[in-house]
Amino acid sequence: MPLENMRAMLSRASAGRYAVGAFNILDYSSAKAVVQAAEELDAPVIIQTSAKTVTFWGSRTLAGWIRELTGGSKAPVALHLDHCKDLDLIRECIDAGWTSVMIDASARPFEENVALSRRVVEMARPKDVTVEAELGAIVGVEDDIHVKEQDSHLADPAQAVEFCAKVGPDCFAPAIGTAHGIYKGEPRIAYHILEKVAAGTRVPIALHGGTGLSDGVFRRCIALGCAKVNISTQIKYAFIDGFVGYHNAHNSQYDPLKAIQAQFDKVKKGIASNIRLFGSAGKADHEWRVPGENNL
Ligand SMILES: [Zn+2]
Repeated sequence: MPLENMRAMLSRASAGRYAVGAFNILDYSSAKAVVQAAEELDAPVIIQTSAKTVTFWGSRTLAGWIRELTGGSKAPVALHLDHCKDLDLIRECIDAGWTSVMIDASARPFEENVALSRRVVEMARPKDVTVEAELGAIVGVEDDIHVKEQDSHLADPAQAVEFCAKVGPDCFAPAIGTAHGIYKGEPRIAYHILEKVAAGTRVPIALHGGTGLSDGVFRRCIALGCAKVNISTQIKYAFIDGFVGYHNAHNSQYDPLKAIQAQFDKVKKGIASNIRLFGSAGKADHEWRVPGENNL
């Protein structure tokens, strides 16, 4: 099936009060784990790549893998560029076949963030590529983006409404108290902000920093308007632990493919349990898809 963008996927999720999982892949095997889990659960899914992963493998290589994996799959899949500050890389990914991109100009003053995010929308829309934009500062480390706790700040609901009206994003990432990386204590989610932002902007909300949140927190955020949930750190851990765990248990055996299989299984298991928890299993809804419409 051709790749889709996030527009129809997320508007259906918002209407149905479930969320589509957005999983940060690291290589071919982890991308395959996402596609297989989605197909087995009949779920829409978003494959995300960090800017660092794109630079590591190259945009054409990555896009080729994803096209090969999704070509024969029945699962609706979007290919999304996560947190990107670099307009040249955004343009490169759009040209290489990404169907969705995130502009992260959240470290800039409000008006600059609006202007830069709007530029990306104008660049992406003619190619039917969807855009996610961020407001506020999400604490933690996401590849090359570091935000210290004292520098983090939550999105202001009135500013969020103004931001979305001016930018027109397809998906909006307001800082609501979640964090990238591993939580040290109980995260304090600003549900009141999430509720006001979702109601005021009427744009599907992306929940960043999904790894480590409890099932109850996920359910509440999804009920309040989060239609996309980002999972990255969990995959990094499963990727390393799956491989190393296999080797530690069979340390006289040097059979890399068995270790890679164990790694794949661990990554896929986590993704499948996320898809079930977010309520997107069984939501592939093949009937609504008209060939040539929203399909790239
Ligand atoms: Zn993020």
